[in-house]
Amino acid sequence: MGVNARTLPASLAEMPASDLDQLIQLLARLPGLGPRSARRAALHLLKKRESLMRPLASALAQAAETVKSCANCGNLDSRDPCAICRDPKRDPAVICVVAEVGDLWAMERSAAFRGRYHVLGGTLSALDGIGPEQLGIAQLLHRAADPAVKEVVLATGATVEGQTTAHYLADRLAGLPVTVTRLAHGLPVGGELDYLDDGTLIAALKARRPL
Ligand SMILES: [Zn+2]
Repeated sequence: MGVNARTLPASLAEMPASDLDQLIQLLARLPGLGPRSARRAALHLLKKRESLMRPLASALAQAAETVKSCANCGNLDSRDPCAICRDPKRDPAVICVVAEVGDLWAMERSAAFRGRYHVLGGTLSALDGIGPEQLGIAQLLHRAADPAVKEVVLATGATVEGQTTAHYLADRLAGLPVTVTRLAHGLPVGGELDYLDDGTLIAALKARRPL
């Protein structure tokens, strides 16, 4: 019985990939890595099997088990509440609202902010069906209602979605006795905080102004 040539590609595609192919396919799904860089990364890992590949595998497994979102602020940490929420040296009077954890890291790298954060986990986007319910905005309003909180800094970036989100939050926060400020413009249009150099971010924070 001959092989049906028309079914061959499909049956090949269903064959289990080799371990190496699977590794490359998974690496290629990481942001910033295409198939070519995934192949390079896989070769590099196999060359550095003991010094890099095994420690990386165990760090991945460990992080997958332990890292979670802080129930208070949305930051990622192995403990809940996170290290920033637990730190008694952080100023409880100021909450900086950011879209993503990467933006929080950018603020922390700049070392210009000593308050606490609220990570939304995204920005409002009608196109992507992301509304206020998806962004933990009720939790932010709850936190901002604490009498210890005096200022909420909106740092949701200069994209259209970032600005829409900031305006929405400013409206929702308007009834509370807190000053609502926005990072100064001078942020590159469409720029996300994570891509800013520290100097630009520090300047934008220092020159923040009430909405
Ligand atoms: Zn936290």
